[in-house]
Amino acid sequence: MSMAIETSREMDGVPLSHPVISALDLHKYYELGETRVHALRGITVDIARGEFVAVMGASGSGKSTFMNILGCLDRPSSGSYFLDGTDVSSLEKRELAAIRNRHIGFVFQGFNLLARTTALENVELPTLYAKLNKRQRAQAAEEALAMVGLADRSRHFPSQLSGGQQQRVAIARALVNHPALLLADEPTGNLDSHTAVEVMDILQKLNDDGLTIVLVTHEPDIAQFARRAILFRDGRIRRDEPNEDCPRAIDVLQNMPVIDEEQDER
Ligand code: ADP
Ligand code: MG
Repeated sequence: MSMAIETSREMDGVPLSHPVISALDLHKYYELGETRVHALRGITVDIARGEFVAVMGASGSGKSTFMNILGCLDRPSSGSYFLDGTDVSSLEKRELAAIRNRHIGFVFQGFNLLARTTALENVELPTLYAKLNKRQRAQAAEEALAMVGLADRSRHFPSQLSGGQQQRVAIARALVNHPALLLADEPTGNLDSHTAVEVMDILQKLNDDGLTIVLVTHEPDIAQFARRAILFRDGRIRRDEPNEDCPRAIDVLQNMPVIDEEQDER
């Protein structure tokens, strides 16, 4: 536990010289009965504080495996992973869970909201581990909902929200503990194209405020909003390039047709 608290001070602090993510020669094997799947075949990459990175690649190329390791949900079979200077592979399960809960926000393709729970209560969930009282937890959740433009929807249940709004609730839940790193695996995969760009607008604004974001997508139209693109193929990095002419999602939205259903939500 003391280790995790130490790290938290570092990660909430002023920019440090080391990268947020430093992966060195990551390999991952999955054993499936007789067969062994070599999902990552030597991934070496650094990601600095404040970057907005899109991880691209065909289905099965290892993107989710990589994200699960970055998010301390899984461990590499070999190689090392430093999260904000801490060798995460040396930590015990409990310490990993503490780091994960306090420093990493996750957003997935399925929004994974609890159905019988309001937006506010969904967003509050990750704060249960923080040392906050009930009032402070509600306030943190309200602030996070405001960050994604949903301050007026806090009492709604997921079924009363559009897909885009549900994903924004999921983003608010990911942000409520003020993570240093946001990991998003195909967050726009279940959304229509207009709503997807709205979600990218939110991510770009959060990145403007300094949040480090790693986003998995197989859609170039979505990846274009990140400032760096890493292409996976067969468990290896094939390309890693800055995206020089990265458009602003808010500008792209202005020239996009709006789907009727979504119009009512505005
Ligand atoms: P992507 O996210 O790019 O589609 P994944 O990281 O999910 O790729 O998968 C990479 C490879 O590892 C694929 O061949 C996939 O079938 C395999 N794989 C992923 N997760 C598991 C698992 N839990 N058990 C066995 N094989 C897996
Ligand atoms: Mg995947």
